[in-house]
Amino acid sequence: MVVHLLLPGYPPASHLMVDAGRLMPCLPVVCHMDSSIVLFGPPGAGKGTQAGRIVEVTGKPQVSTGDMLRAAVAAGTELGRIAKGHMESGGLVPDDVIIGLIEERVKESDARNGLLFDGFPRTVAQAEALAQIAPVSLVIAIEVEDESIVGRITGRFTCGGCGSVYHDLFRPCKIEGICDECGSSNFKRRADDSEETVRSRLAAYHEQTSPLASWYEQRGLLHRIDGNASIDEVGFRISKILDE
Ligand SMILES: [Zn+2]
Repeated sequence: MVVHLLLPGYPPASHLMVDAGRLMPCLPVVCHMDSSIVLFGPPGAGKGTQAGRIVEVTGKPQVSTGDMLRAAVAAGTELGRIAKGHMESGGLVPDDVIIGLIEERVKESDARNGLLFDGFPRTVAQAEALAQIAPVSLVIAIEVEDESIVGRITGRFTCGGCGSVYHDLFRPCKIEGICDECGSSNFKRRADDSEETVRSRLAAYHEQTSPLASWYEQRGLLHRIDGNASIDEVGFRISKILDE
């Protein structure tokens, strides 16, 4: 995929083309400008960091349906009011509401270069709906073995005195049981970082994502990235895919 960055004063007027009744800037090379990217990754795989880099490189705004739902509820739009009803009654927000939000989002002016979808789609039905609304040219799945994620997440603990973050494997205290920064021996571990919780979140993620990954794979859009490497190495591999 070729990524074009829009430079100030570029493209010249001769490269504007009419698309769906509006003017679209289009560079004279292969034009992927209006296609979107979908990013998958299990919790704890560093998806947030990589999403930030993809936004930087491609200029495609990051879209999270959670953020969009909160924004629509806060703005009191019609879809926001419907979503709020479902959220308050403890139910899942139905697909048609989510899809409606995406439909509105892709019409915004900053979306004409495509979007980076993070945490969406979650189901094959949503992927099918998305394909009707916004062309997706690339799906990146960051893959990390469960064992490694469990190790990354469950090893975290913080100092109750100063908030310094430690990790059993990656950043232990210099003297066991004593904070390097403030000398406190009061440490906290988050309850949702327990191994059991992490494993059940991972199981839910795999159950949800496997059919979706296959769906995109059948369409030749899926790129699997080994997320066990360093943040920079994973970023480098993603940028190579973006350049293809
Ligand atoms: Zn401390």
